[in-house]
Amino acid sequence: MTDKPIRVTVWNEFIHERTCESTRMIYPDGIHAVLSAAIREQLGAAVEVRTATLDQPENGLTAEILARTDVLAWWGHAAHDQVSDAVVERVHQRVLEGMGFLALHSTHASKIFRRMMATSCMLRWREAAEKERVWIVDPSHPIVDGLEGEFFELPQVEMYGEFFDIPRPDELITISWFEGGEVFRSGCTFRRGKGKIFYFSPGHEAFPLYYDANVRKIIANAVRWAAPRGSSYVGDGRNIEPSLSPIAAKHVVDESLHAHLKK
Ligand code: ZN
Repeated sequence: MTDKPIRVTVWNEFIHERTCESTRMIYPDGIHAVLSAAIREQLGAAVEVRTATLDQPENGLTAEILARTDVLAWWGHAAHDQVSDAVVERVHQRVLEGMGFLALHSTHASKIFRRMMATSCMLRWREAAEKERVWIVDPSHPIVDGLEGEFFELPQVEMYGEFFDIPRPDELITISWFEGGEVFRSGCTFRRGKGKIFYFSPGHEAFPLYYDANVRKIIANAVRWAAPRGSSYVGDGRNIEPSLSPIAAKHVVDESLHAHLKK
């Protein structure tokens, strides 16, 4: 692994914070500002964090910015449709090349997440300020490094419940239980191409969830986990003639083999 800092871009649609007074009180500079601060606080010099928002040119995600992004964290809810298809295509391509992707909270319904999952990604929800108990079901996973105990609790959340229409996750890291009785696969990993994807559900805009120490730790751990690793291969499907090693001359169609198969 390289010693270079992980280049993180935190993307936020940045709408609720400008249109809803109660959200503005929790996140006066936007959810992206609090997420960035959390990642910097946890990872220090190991990261370089920038932010991007929907209202910027090319939705803040130009080819140049994405080329310099190792991990993209995404928060969207009210304006999934306003993200341009060209940007979705570009983000998807970068994930296949190895860029990590953190899908936060209502990002489950974003164009990019649904495209990568190829399912509806729909779920059930309820806004009743109920308690969530987040059970750690993969305690040796790097995404839960440093968390204490078997679970942690969030006093007031929006409930997200099963059935969550996602493909079977590669790894299930957390399962949440809610006061009203539902359960939810709240922390899931996927791989697409060389890219690592982590979906994490706590993060509703009406509650200060991104100030919670456990949530912050999980998101920072996920940045480190999702950072590109491995070989330089980038999935460039291509014809590889001539071969690396000599291949003895063969008939393309061997008549004797055909005769043998017809017996
Ligand atoms: Zn929400």
